[in-house]
Amino acid sequence: MCKGVVAMEMTTGKIYNMRAKAVLFGTGGYGRAWLITSNALANTGDGVAVAYRAGLPLMDMEFVQYHPTGLYKHGILMSEPAGVKWLLAQ
Ligand SMILES: Cc1cc2nc3c(=O)[nH]c(=O)nc-3n(C[C@H](O)[C@H](O)[C@H](O)COP(=O)(O)OP(=O)(O)OC[C@H]3O[C@@H](n4cnc5c(N)ncnc54)[C@H](O)[C@@H]3O)c2cc1C
Repeated sequence: MCKGVVAMEMTTGKIYNMRAKAVLFGTGGYGRAWLITSNALANTGDGVAVAYRAGLPLMDMEFVQYHPTGLYKHGILMSEPAGVKWLLAQ
């Protein structure tokens, strides 16, 4: 059972112990599991892994967006209106 969190303030290194009745993870997705992604470097799925290793069930993990206007090899998104304009021109 989760009773709170231990957190470190990144700028000072100070450690905080916080008790809580419930804990919500807001650590983002896991786009960095792919070689090519537009996700931030921090999107490694740390939070999901912590929950999984603690034996919690995960759900909807298969819902990952593969962006239709992502530029192959670069992980950069082309503007969506530009993609629609290209499609309409075909
Ligand atoms: C290029 C791009 C364009 C997008 N455009 C749109 C758009 O137009 N419209 C739209 O609706 N959505 C868009 N999205 C998606 C949207 O940005 C995400 O769905 C949303 O930001 C997810 O929010 P979140 O709070 O779950 O996670 P995030 O915004 O990823 O926040 C997670 C936070 O947790 C932190 N974190 C991670 N691990 C740890 C850890 N172990 N300890 C402490 N902190 C941690 C991270 O540093 C980060 O600050 C886009 C995404 C990308 C990459």
